[in-house]
Amino acid sequence: MAVLQIVEHPAAVLEAKCRKVNEYDEKLHQLLDDMYETMVEADGVGLAAPQIGIDQQIAIVEIDEESGTIEMVNPEILETKGEQLGIEGCLSFPNLYGEVSRPYYVRIKAFDRNGQAYLLEAEDFLARAIQHEIDHLHGILFTSKVNKYIDEAELERYEEV
Ligand SMILES: [Zn+2]
Repeated sequence: MAVLQIVEHPAAVLEAKCRKVNEYDEKLHQLLDDMYETMVEADGVGLAAPQIGIDQQIAIVEIDEESGTIEMVNPEILETKGEQLGIEGCLSFPNLYGEVSRPYYVRIKAFDRNGQAYLLEAEDFLARAIQHEIDHLHGILFTSKVNKYIDEAELERYEEV
């Protein structure tokens, strides 16, 4: 496995609409493994392929041990419900945090690394992370959804609460 370089904004690949994956081969497995290592190294809870310079519909999310590692290939949002307001950051925007409103619940369809389709329901922060990553695959950055930016001093106070 290898830690890859994270692409930071501005970069064309971050705003590109990603291509669908057609081959569930060893190369895809390797890429997912490398993306995982890169996300962990960067202390992130999610990573999308364009963030390592690859315009393909591949993303991973891991918010905690309980929900585990979620690998999403060609993910699609089937349904959303409710609303949540929370603070988001992005590995492609170091030290930038903002308040973003998103649906509270999401139901998705995606494929795993072997091309097996699956359905997944998520709520709260997991739903937020999944939606943030799927947005990346459509070239949508969280900064286009921020209501209000939060400076780091404010963020520390926020995290202590
Ligand atoms: Zn991001």
